Amino acid sequence: MEAQPTASHFVDGDWLEDTAGAVIESRYPATGAVIARVHAATPAVLDRALEAAGRAQADWAARRPVERGRVLLRAAGLLRARNAELARLETLDTGKPIAETLVADAASGADCLEYFGGLAAAIGGETIPLGRDFAYTLREPLGVCAGIGAWNYPIQIACWKAAPALACGNAMVFKPSELTPLSALRLAQALVEAGAPSGLFNVVQGAGAVGHALATDARVAKLSLTGSVETGRKVYAAAADGPKPVTLELGGKSPLIVFDDADLEDAVGGAMLGNFYSAGQICSNGTRVFVQDGIRPRFLERLAARTEAIRLGDPLDPATQMGPLASDAQMARVLAFIEGAIAEGARLVTGGRRWGNAGWHVEPPVFDGVTDDMTVAREEVFGPVLSVLGFAEEAEVVARANTSPFGLAAGVFTRDLARGHRVAAGLEAGVCWINAYNLTPVEMPFGGVKASGFGRENGRAAIDAWSRLKTVHVGMGPVDAPF
Ligand code: NDP
Repeated sequence: MEAQPTASHFVDGDWLEDTAGAVIESRYPATGAVIARVHAATPAVLDRALEAAGRAQADWAARRPVERGRVLLRAAGLLRARNAELARLETLDTGKPIAETLVADAASGADCLEYFGGLAAAIGGETIPLGRDFAYTLREPLGVCAGIGAWNYPIQIACWKAAPALACGNAMVFKPSELTPLSALRLAQALVEAGAPSGLFNVVQGAGAVGHALATDARVAKLSLTGSVETGRKVYAAAADGPKPVTLELGGKSPLIVFDDADLEDAVGGAMLGNFYSAGQICSNGTRVFVQDGIRPRFLERLAARTEAIRLGDPLDPATQMGPLASDAQMARVLAFIEGAIAEGARLVTGGRRWGNAGWHVEPPVFDGVTDDMTVAREEVFGPVLSVLGFAEEAEVVARANTSPFGLAAGVFTRDLARGHRVAAGLEAGVCWINAYNLTPVEMPFGGVKASGFGRENGRAAIDAWSRLKTVHVGMGPVDAPF
């Protein structure tokens, strides 16, 4: 098998196998061929991972922050040195084109390790003068944390959780999606080579049951999930028993608003980037493209032409611009949304059929005439389905954009500077782009509002998610007791 790892899990600084766990097959989405077989973690594997993480955390938290940072920076260097190999692995596991995985996956993971590696030594508290007395705050690690990932950006998600968690002095047990078990193991390996203590970052395989076991284990101090709203609710409920803090990065149905005065090619490019990158399997995608009536005919014409020019094909071919969906189930789900949209009266402008016989490709469809009540405008598709909705006025479109229960992201294209900021201010979303879409540099916080979750990844804001604040009040004089 083309991508078989040394063993299923990476625990306590080394590969670990336990064939008693259920078999998980990883398939190459372009052909359906099995590329690796791993086993789900048994209770014994989970136990070893959590115990090892507990030991490592004590050692790690006692190290100087600059030293912790240096380990993350060295791991970033290893990911960069192995970028080509990791890109190939990610393409085999997810089906995303190599043209994307070479620039967006391990590379953005390395950015994240560099950012938090650099920040590690600057994490601290503050002093609060209180007249005669004073107080100070300490940023303490939480302990052993659990990360649970989705299948669209496996190594990036692992880094987005591990890098800030480790920078703050925590240890982690990470469970990748069962669809994409491979690349997180390589992060674990790189961290050990970079000098992380054994057990600091462990990877265990498994489906929802393993995630649930992590969520409910008393040794886990905090949970961070990237996944669907449905899973988010379950993880939140499981954590309530602790209670333990949770970060939820969930799905979206984000609006992208194009005003008449927008630069046409930029707006079309933004809409395509926000719907077709990674075959549309991106949580923050702008899947409700609201286009003002004046520009809509020209917008649709350019959008159709540019969409028809997208090169679908073998993800390992550097010329391929769009690969297959991650699984046959996801392809079936996307095709069902397309049929549903047609049945509900949306106008199919282009695309929308299965492409090729092998693999799970779909020709990206563009729909026009989509209305707010249609299923395709309300539910997350997680595939390359672009819906255009018309609008006339600014106030109207902001109100309609905000009717969604989701609130992950939003975008606005306009040349009117004041309007761009006004609309961004009015949109209920965790992240807004003005004249851009789906750029998520590690320097800026990322996360949702409403049903899209809470807590932030990336940026300085992530430190709040991975540390706890202790306040120390210092009395400097006699105690003034009323008794
Ligand atoms: P899922 O919600 O199906 O799964 C997410 C992770 O949770 C997987 O590792 C899954 O395991 C695990 N899991 C499933 N059930 C439980 C449970 N009861 N307790 C604990 N863990 C559990 O999402 P997908 O993997 O299908 O990913 C797609 C979704 O993720 C989309 O909704 C998308 O919007 C969202 N997403 C959000 C992002 C964000 O940053 N906001 C980024 C990327 C995706 P397994 O898959 O092995 O069953």
